[in-house]
Amino acid sequence: MSKPIAPRVLDWFDTFGRKDLPWQKQLLPYPVWISEIMLQQTQVSTVIPYFERFMLRFPEVADLASAHLDEVLALWTGLGYYARARNLHKTARMITQDWGGALPSRQADLMTLPGIGRSTAGAIAAICYGEAVAILDGNVKRVIARHFAISGWPGQSKTAQALWAHAEAQTPSARVADYTQAMMDLGATVCTTKRPRCFACPLETSCLAKKGNRIDEYPGKKPKRAKPKKSTAMLIIRTGRGDIRLVQRPAEGIWGGLYSFPECGVEDLETLLPSTAITQIHLPAFKHQFTHFELSIQPVLIDIQRRRDVSRVPNEAWLKPDQPPTFGLSRPAERIIKAVAQYPLP
Ligand code: SF4
Repeated sequence: MSKPIAPRVLDWFDTFGRKDLPWQKQLLPYPVWISEIMLQQTQVSTVIPYFERFMLRFPEVADLASAHLDEVLALWTGLGYYARARNLHKTARMITQDWGGALPSRQADLMTLPGIGRSTAGAIAAICYGEAVAILDGNVKRVIARHFAISGWPGQSKTAQALWAHAEAQTPSARVADYTQAMMDLGATVCTTKRPRCFACPLETSCLAKKGNRIDEYPGKKPKRAKPKKSTAMLIIRTGRGDIRLVQRPAEGIWGGLYSFPECGVEDLETLLPSTAITQIHLPAFKHQFTHFELSIQPVLIDIQRRRDVSRVPNEAWLKPDQPPTFGLSRPAERIIKAVAQYPLP
């Protein structure tokens, strides 16, 4: 059994760790929770402006709980993985109703809330309340997998169990808040996915991946399977004033609750084009990747004179040019709206 890593990681953190990120100012549970959710799948530099806007609009849990979901999704637009925003909103309401307005302090209780998994619950409990529990976010997984040479893809339960066992064994009972932040920081700034800076790492002398010159093998990659391919056409109806019609997606499923364009099969396009169309332009097609399939999107810009030239559809909203949306947009809708701006009104 090698020496515990905590003393070296803490020493490193004292000198090099980041301590001035916006959510580190006071390490209160609400901002730490918001930052932890935003940081899932997203880098710190991208998260910071989103976090600041979010906290300005929803400074307390109660503000988030009483907000309309559309507004929460609007502030999330661009961050992706919108289930995170929907769960934040749902959880804020549960905290207000069932927990007296304060986040629970124990990892086990935090894990009962929507969108808060074992690692996020561990991070909040350790950082804000000093509970000596382990975390295993993407950054920590990488450090642990490399340092202890844990092979296999972390998505497989055997590998995940081994990683958790090591993470737990290394978690100290003293200074657990600092240790937790230090491990996340080490993964984010030194033991990076590509070109880790082992020369600056406090664990270099005991790191098994480094010793065996096999850093690239850890953590193991997800076994590759060809993704199914799907295709769709998106109909962008634009009026003579430049208003663009969007439609809210159903609450569940892809882009749930966000606004996007009405869709149809590419083969149905001709039959669905409104007879009042002045022009129709096929914009450049593009691909959008989901974790479980690839979607080819053919946007079609249809110019009409007035809104009433097309029949109303349920849950429609019109976006005026040069006005920021007050609702969340799907990623492709955002991209298409930018592209449409390049096409002058007829
Ligand atoms: S020595 Fe290199 S590979 Fe090992 S934990 Fe440190 S940065 Fe990562």
